[in-house]
Amino acid sequence: MATMTNAFEMAQRQFDHVASLLKLDPQVSELLRWPMREYHMRIPVRMDDGTLRVFDGYRVQHNDARGPNKGGIRFHPAETLDTVRALATWMTWKCAVADIPLGGGKGGVAIDPATLSTSEKERLCRGYIDHFWKYLGPRQDVPAPDVGTTAQMMGWMMDEYSKLVGQYTPGVITGKPLGGGGSLGRTEATGHGVIYAVREAMKYLQMAPDQSVAAFQGFGNVSQYAAIGFKELLKGKVACVSYWDRDDRTSYTVSHPDGVDPRYLISITDQYGTIDKNKARTSGYVIEGGDAWLTKDVDVLIPAALEGQINGESVQAVSKRVRLVAEGANGPTTPEADEVLKSRGVFVIPDFLCNAGGVTVSYFESVQNDMNFYWTKEEVLDRLDTRMTVAFESVLEMAINDKVYMRDAAYMVAIARVVKAMELRGWL
Ligand code: NAD
Repeated sequence: MATMTNAFEMAQRQFDHVASLLKLDPQVSELLRWPMREYHMRIPVRMDDGTLRVFDGYRVQHNDARGPNKGGIRFHPAETLDTVRALATWMTWKCAVADIPLGGGKGGVAIDPATLSTSEKERLCRGYIDHFWKYLGPRQDVPAPDVGTTAQMMGWMMDEYSKLVGQYTPGVITGKPLGGGGSLGRTEATGHGVIYAVREAMKYLQMAPDQSVAAFQGFGNVSQYAAIGFKELLKGKVACVSYWDRDDRTSYTVSHPDGVDPRYLISITDQYGTIDKNKARTSGYVIEGGDAWLTKDVDVLIPAALEGQINGESVQAVSKRVRLVAEGANGPTTPEADEVLKSRGVFVIPDFLCNAGGVTVSYFESVQNDMNFYWTKEEVLDRLDTRMTVAFESVLEMAINDKVYMRDAAYMVAIARVVKAMELRGWL
């Protein structure tokens, strides 16, 4: 079976499938299967040793019928225009399915941030804004962190934008540091949102959370808080987590016979999600190859690293015990793998529903910036829980009523909302 690796082809193929189910007007499909605006800039940055390096930076705005474009900025060596297009497209569907009044955008720079010093990172962040600021703004396009970018970087970007426009503008970017316009609960938001969705799926599937075992891919922002939530909120067992080891340039799976303690592993993980495997080993953890997470005898898989990880080939290794796949990452499952999961009756919580917690709290952050009044962490997470639960229910209802796969149902809910906004604005 062919393995699809181009994320944008994957996003278009998923869309085309649902567009045909919905019998969507071909002209509307043509509008929605491509981003409305795309920018590619070459960003020169002075390195600490005095040399100049030029970085490829992207910002893509997929659709803003429902509100300003919204989506993270990723710093990753494999970033291309197509990965950014795919992620921007999924952001449109994510905001629509979460029913927040925002459109879809995404940005990226082809760089491994771990290879830069702190001051080089700051110059790259400021350079990114110097090049793209005209296309950004609280009512235009609002970036946020993603893989390889941090709250501190958002703080520098907000500062650069504020200088360029001549006024303090915290609402131009979300995921900012606390005390610098950030919202309480944003760090936990995506991972906890995944767990709220898992909790609702388990109710529907009549699975007992405290008897369930999960395997995680990735151990960065999303996976760390999802693992904490799985263990502490649902009382389930975390069998293992996998991660990319920056020193060895390969991935590993870290497990413990009694279950993983996510808080301990976080204490020995660096800011890029690389676990100190020697410390883990001396604390009784077992280190295996990076694909082992997918083959574990578990009830739940939570891919929370990168695109295309569960594909036509790797899906064959998934244990027959798995009943639920909760997609913390964007695009972790290829259409080929989807067919296999569907035929096995595995319940999938699709990415743009499952990981919508991050953008939902980003939206709360903009609302708090606009009001200049900040909520408690409890208020933020309670509101997030309500939003995630309502979004999950709307997709599940569609899946049950129309007898469709959860991913198709999520697309149907999202596309209907975007098409309605385009109609109301007179675009169609
Ligand atoms: P992150 O950079 O904090 O962490 C990524 C993790 O994945 C790291 O532990 C890294 O070691 C690991 N990883 C990378 N390649 C791997 C591989 N081949 N095998 C195993 N592990 C690997 O990133 P994040 O913010 O946690 O984002 C993870 C995913 O979730 C991405 O797809 C991102 O787009 C998506 N997402 C993030 C947010 C957010 O708020 N951070 C919101 C929605 C979706």
